[in-house]
Amino acid sequence: MNEPKILIDTDELYSRIKQLANEINDYYGTEDTLNIICVLKGAAMFCTELSKNLKMPLKFEYITLSSYGNSTCSSGKVKSLNLSLPTFENENVLIVEDIIDTGLTLNFLFDFIHHNCKPKSTKLAVLFDKEIQRKYNLIPDFKAFEVDNKFIVGFGLDYQGFYRNLDYIGYFEN
Ligand code: 5GP
Repeated sequence: MNEPKILIDTDELYSRIKQLANEINDYYGTEDTLNIICVLKGAAMFCTELSKNLKMPLKFEYITLSSYGNSTCSSGKVKSLNLSLPTFENENVLIVEDIIDTGLTLNFLFDFIHHNCKPKSTKLAVLFDKEIQRKYNLIPDFKAFEVDNKFIVGFGLDYQGFYRNLDYIGYFEN
């Protein structure tokens, strides 16, 4: 299997995630419960590392959404495998996602939450913002890094199911 080139090494990755957690701590404070919605599979590692550094009482929901399949570009359709969420009436929700690209996946999720869960607020934290590709009007409230039009892997992000376990962010040269 090809070894990816390093885009962001382990030290930079962990230190930026810690910083981002502090931005989230400053925004929400430490009193109110925050409901994290972790979008599997890609956000699993980011969500774990981020939440280790969050200071407010946390509750977790895990959902599985997919728009890429086995390809390196969006299929244009969102596949939802287990989309069931409680109501979050009068509570804050933070969606945690690996990367926002066209915005299709998150637009679908925001819509679902808006119609079914009635939270006090819904914010978005992403590990990567690939803004250049955006087709939906979505801006992450918290983002760790920006990335140009590269296909990246590692720390939860896969290519055909592999590379999620890398402790750094890599990319492949064409
Ligand atoms: P969107 O719906 O915003 O177009 O795509 C979001 C999803 O596409 C992400 O959750 C992720 O699964 C996948 N994706 C987008 N860009 C990349 C990338 O550079 N690398 C990997 N591994 N997945 C990506």
